[in-house]
Amino acid sequence: MTIKENMVVSLSYKLTNHKTGETIEETSNDNPMVFLTGVGGVIPQFEENIDGKKVGDAFAFHIEADMAYGSPSEEKVAMIPIDVFRDEKGVFDEAYFVPGALIPMSDNEGNHLRGKILEVTSDSIKMDFNHPLAGMDLQFEGSILNVREATKDELDHGHVHGEGGHQH
Ligand SMILES: [Zn+2]
Repeated sequence: MTIKENMVVSLSYKLTNHKTGETIEETSNDNPMVFLTGVGGVIPQFEENIDGKKVGDAFAFHIEADMAYGSPSEEKVAMIPIDVFRDEKGVFDEAYFVPGALIPMSDNEGNHLRGKILEVTSDSIKMDFNHPLAGMDLQFEGSILNVREATKDELDHGHVHGEGGHQH
């Protein structure tokens, strides 16, 4: 069975920074990437590159930053008053809020996002909300572990059910 639209694909991959070779993330045998094709769940060029492959096939390709997570934007860097980070007793945890730390936050509409601390001053924290992979050329290498047709329920819901997917 080959990969095309509306299939459930399991694959292993290693993602590296195409320019520096640094490893960004890697799937494990117990925890492959499982996704439904044709619904925009992954980067479009990622799907294009594995289209037509079958179980056991290997892949290696790279995606330029512009076609992946785009360029980092200054508009996504914000100064946030330090009081926001105090606990209910008014204590600021200096050991936790340090440059480089990734802090789970939510915006005014309750959306979850992660900010990376760039700088801590006496009254505010400079935080970067750009996607961690913004500006990076991505290199993917891996192999196709399983391919099956999506069920009608999965297509209706737009996601995978069962192993590696939604359990409901
Ligand atoms: Zn569902």
